[in-house]
Amino acid sequence: MLSLIFPSLQSGNMKPVICLGIESTAHTWGIAIVDGKGRVLANERDIYRPPLGWGIHPTEAAKHHDEVGRIVYERALEKAGIGMSDIDFVAWSQAPGLAPCLHKGLNFALSIAKNISSASSSSAKEIPLVGVNHCIGHIEIGRLSSGLRDPITLYTSGANTQVLGFVPGFGRGRGRQPGRYRCFGETMDVGIGNALDKFGREAGLEFPAGPKIEELAKSGSYVELPYVVKGMDLSFSGIVTDALQKLKSKKANLNDLCFSLQETMFAMLTEVTERALAHTGKDECLLTGGVAANKRLVQMLEIMCRERGAKFYCVPREFAGDQGAMIAWTGILMKNAGMVTKNEILPRQRTDDVDVKWM
Ligand code: AMP
Ligand code: MG
Repeated sequence: MLSLIFPSLQSGNMKPVICLGIESTAHTWGIAIVDGKGRVLANERDIYRPPLGWGIHPTEAAKHHDEVGRIVYERALEKAGIGMSDIDFVAWSQAPGLAPCLHKGLNFALSIAKNISSASSSSAKEIPLVGVNHCIGHIEIGRLSSGLRDPITLYTSGANTQVLGFVPGFGRGRGRQPGRYRCFGETMDVGIGNALDKFGREAGLEFPAGPKIEELAKSGSYVELPYVVKGMDLSFSGIVTDALQKLKSKKANLNDLCFSLQETMFAMLTEVTERALAHTGKDECLLTGGVAANKRLVQMLEIMCRERGAKFYCVPREFAGDQGAMIAWTGILMKNAGMVTKNEILPRQRTDDVDVKWM
């Protein structure tokens, strides 16, 4: 069964390759089946939820991934209506993330590849593994679903907050620098999602706190919080500390603080994103990552883009948070571009460390 089809990519008669994608960088265990035409045949996931008042404990999240790994995998195959032997290669989230969680993804990828190879009637069937950078996965699933060619991407997730844009390769011969997604601005401390979750945790809200903060903000009004943009970079942790002090000393109520956190942090993101559009001359803007589910953030970016004549696109909810489809699709792009990766985890790899040979 097709959960989503992108019509622009459905052409040609050849049987498209089938890629199994595994997401495991943090709280989410995701398994997706995507084909070479960009059709998402299945995108199943199970999310680890820490107990109330706790953050994500890496080994607990990894234990979760172990427990649900096989169940989610079988669900994905069933949903896609394919068998194990239909899988041509496996893409897994290699970076960045929590080391114990990344290991679970790699080990699962290795075991799937081995099982398929040994079950195959033709002994030649070898299942390649492609290691994918999770942040680039968020960009590529956004480009796939939107049809945007060369956007400035505002990537807002739990652990990451970055303003990214493709910069082509330059130089000659051995000193040539490959094209990459360059980071024009980013958080200097925590990701925006983690900042919201931290505020929520201390305020007694369940994890993840983002959706609840959005709900409470609807009946809040503005109280002043610090606004921290330095050049193109952002800082969120001091804003959360200030908001929590105001909450605990009863200088402001929870609804007002939820509203003001959103207004302040989202205005900061919009300011930096606009400056990236202005400086690069790009005229497309993509919002991706889990916080892209927030309607107020979408609204602010929509207004900014409309005012400067840029196209704006927000990833559909299914692709906003972490999931396997973004890993599978990026794996397909990398494989088509002839990229080869090592079977090792890279917990600290940056978005701009990765050569982008498919653009
Ligand atoms: P990701 O790491 O990309 O899976 O995104 C997860 C983050 O998105 C968590 O920190 C959530 O609190 C945040 N999030 C999810 N929905 C919303 C929302 N409606 N508003 C703000 N943040 C959200
Ligand atoms: Mg993410």
